[in-house]
Amino acid sequence: MRPAPVLAAGGRTVGNILSATEWMLPSPATQVHTISVLPSHSPSPAPQFAFSNLTTASKSSGGKGDQQGTPRFDVVRDDLLHPLANGNKARKLDALLPLLRRRGATDVITCGGCQSAHAAAVGVMRLVEHLSCLSSFHNDEEVHIVVDAGTGTTAVGLALGAVCLGLHWRVTAVMLADTLERYQEQEKSLISDFKGLCHEDCHHLVGTDGLVHWVDRSSPRRFGKVLGGEIASCRQVARQTGILLDPVYTLAAWEQAVDLCRGDGREAKVAMIHTGGTLGLFGLAQRYPQHFAATANGQA
Ligand SMILES: *Cc1c(COP(=O)(O)O)cnc(C)c1O
Repeated sequence: MRPAPVLAAGGRTVGNILSATEWMLPSPATQVHTISVLPSHSPSPAPQFAFSNLTTASKSSGGKGDQQGTPRFDVVRDDLLHPLANGNKARKLDALLPLLRRRGATDVITCGGCQSAHAAAVGVMRLVEHLSCLSSFHNDEEVHIVVDAGTGTTAVGLALGAVCLGLHWRVTAVMLADTLERYQEQEKSLISDFKGLCHEDCHHLVGTDGLVHWVDRSSPRRFGKVLGGEIASCRQVARQTGILLDPVYTLAAWEQAVDLCRGDGREAKVAMIHTGGTLGLFGLAQRYPQHFAATANGQA
């Protein structure tokens, strides 16, 4: 049984808020794919791992990595919500767009982190609620969510959603655009905005300590920089799993999910939220044409 939502907002539960909100997306549903991680047997300088998409692999191919005990993680395919305007931007607009339309907006220009971040986080909470209802994300199961962070709004929205819905989920966010201090400040301010909407009785549920576990990328760099071999890694993942990653954002979450599912906490389900990033690939293809050529890597 699903626990009752424990955080009431303005006298209402978060579940009530979600059910009373007008949404852009007709349904919160999204595909969830399971990826297995095997050591690569190709000669060096080959990639370290071979991936297999157990959800889409044909049964006859034996679904490489389908044996019990093979490290695996889930990918929440929000990149499939729309061909271009997908991922966490679609989730953020999910709650915001109907509000703007009601106020007569005909065009929307966005310019990075806006003050409506707490409204954007509500869209992410709708995703958490949806996932928590799937049998594979059963509420009693330990779930470890992995996400890449720009402003950190998505990560905080996921963590707040989990706490408010009484789920024992952990959220690890890979910091890509700022310092730990700035992410913690952003987290505090979002939590305090959110508490502003809540009935006082529930403030203790969201303590003053942080909810999100912020981690550095394994290979830190100035925001937006692409290191050698990363576009090749994205090509490898695309070939082996059919999942398109970008080297700036989603590859960082992928690497973190691979690390976590091979690590100590293997009893917890690891689930990476695919935040999209499809549009950014077009810019990268112009900046690094040699890595996007059909013959890059010697592979067509
Ligand atoms: C915008 C974006 C982010 C950053 O999301 P925040 O909520 O600002 O942390 C991360 N990944 C992708 C692919 C994005 O497009």
